[in-house]
Amino acid sequence: MVRYFLQQFRITLHATIAATVFAAIYCGAPAGNAQCQDADLLIRHAKIVTMDDHDRIAETMAVRDGKILAVGTEAELSGCTSKHTAVIDLKGRTILPGLIDVHTHALDWAKHASRGEIEIGYQDIRSIAEIVERVRRRAGTIRPGEWILGTGWDEDKLREHRYMSRANLDAVSPDNPVYLGHRTGHLAVVNTSALRLAKITRATPDPQGGVIEKDATGEPTGILKDNAMGLVTHLLPPDPPELEVEAVKYVSEQALESGLTTIHNISLDPGGMHAYQEARRRGWLKVRVQMVPLVSSVLDAERLAATGLYTGFGDDRLKLGAVKMFADGGMGARTIAIYPPELKGEANPLGLLVWKSEDMQKAHHLLAGAGWQVVTHAIGDRAIDQVLDSYAAVIRDLKLKDARFRIAHSGLSTPAIQKRMRELGVIADGNPAFVYWIGSYFARYGPERARWAYPAKSYVENGVVEAAGSDVDVTPMSPWWGIWAAVTRREAQSGKVLAPEERIGVRDALRLYTRNGAYDGFEDKQKGSLEAGKFADFIVVDRDVLTVPADELKDVVVLETFVGGELVYEKAVPR
Ligand SMILES: [Zn+2]
Repeated sequence: MVRYFLQQFRITLHATIAATVFAAIYCGAPAGNAQCQDADLLIRHAKIVTMDDHDRIAETMAVRDGKILAVGTEAELSGCTSKHTAVIDLKGRTILPGLIDVHTHALDWAKHASRGEIEIGYQDIRSIAEIVERVRRRAGTIRPGEWILGTGWDEDKLREHRYMSRANLDAVSPDNPVYLGHRTGHLAVVNTSALRLAKITRATPDPQGGVIEKDATGEPTGILKDNAMGLVTHLLPPDPPELEVEAVKYVSEQALESGLTTIHNISLDPGGMHAYQEARRRGWLKVRVQMVPLVSSVLDAERLAATGLYTGFGDDRLKLGAVKMFADGGMGARTIAIYPPELKGEANPLGLLVWKSEDMQKAHHLLAGAGWQVVTHAIGDRAIDQVLDSYAAVIRDLKLKDARFRIAHSGLSTPAIQKRMRELGVIADGNPAFVYWIGSYFARYGPERARWAYPAKSYVENGVVEAAGSDVDVTPMSPWWGIWAAVTRREAQSGKVLAPEERIGVRDALRLYTRNGAYDGFEDKQKGSLEAGKFADFIVVDRDVLTVPADELKDVVVLETFVGGELVYEKAVPR
């Protein structure tokens, strides 16, 4: 009986395989195409940039139940439709796979906006005096003791080209604590009232992985770097839960408008995860999201591993992604961990290593052993090597075959580092838009290091997979800034092209935001190209991105965004 069943099973199986192979070969053919039928949606007369293995361009695409049935010519797909099929004639418009941003702080960014923080962003503020004036005005409208919050200042964009200090803020806000975060998220300036609340004095030692900046007399200046920010941030008033859920809605809308159909939200706290889940329950979450929690200690890693959850838990809309750790600081805070020569005039001239190496390895080991993909922030070459040492040991100890460990930013990626990344299969979560928006920081580290700051072409040549992130709100959320900057590498202030040999073509730039982003998130079977069987996540853009002059890439306008075959964003203009 059992044997009979097995034989039957084998026959059925063989027949099924044969049918599948047959269908695969003939999929798209006008007749005898068993799979391409009853499409919900047919896109025709488009220039479909599939981003498949052969970089094919197609004109017609059929979609059913949220997935792509077939992509090909009009004739090949003629059998896909029925009388229920909605047909969209794109009249030659360009279609791309939905774009993927693997590194955003989207929820934090959205909350800054919805919290009513004062506007001090790098995009329009040009002097310390302007910031001080905004603090003064706010202080005049609130009760003593209430916090004044702001985010996004950048000393390189200010006339004074220096950090603010508590003295600047004390003059206009003696009775209200002030916390103003730097655009990079790696430092903040606070006033004396805030220092007092946090009990930070000249006697307070630097926390592990943080710096309390002090002046020549030993008094705190008000500048707090990396982990030292936590001494104050835990005192900030909590956000009302509703604000967070509304912020998720805003994130989703903004992402879709810029052409992103998947984002990874990095360093999400429990409140943030709750908000994403709640927004999803209410039907507000239209973009696909990978939630990436933060681990800051071995204890954190133990706790997370002990939940039994791991990367991939969730569904196609909202899931757990990798787990994030920090190895060093930021270029804005001058806290990235570098090899000599040291940075002159800094209290920490070789930067900060946030973790002791053995603890980092313990945490990576625990997390990877529990099934988590890990992404570790490392910008300086010394920090990147520390992370790679740890990754190498964990991959070896756990005999991992396809770990896809990631380095967030991977700022100073020297040839030696790139070689190690390729050998270990480590992915660079790069930030092409940094070259434009914060490329002015690179020169601080000298020409030798600046040459390898946020490379792209050498990754392609050396076989390192690079995916891309805006790191919003370090740079704007729109991926078109990054695509444009990857192709042009022009720095905002000077207009200079930085490391011109690292410029890449537009196809390679698109690859960072499509195929490579999908691979980065273990979603390459579902996303990243427009091919039969993958999600119907795609965008219609207002120009042919493959042929427009490079400088126009930052001006690309997304006309329509589809997620799972559903139109989720439409620009309010006639097509
Ligand atoms: Zn980040």
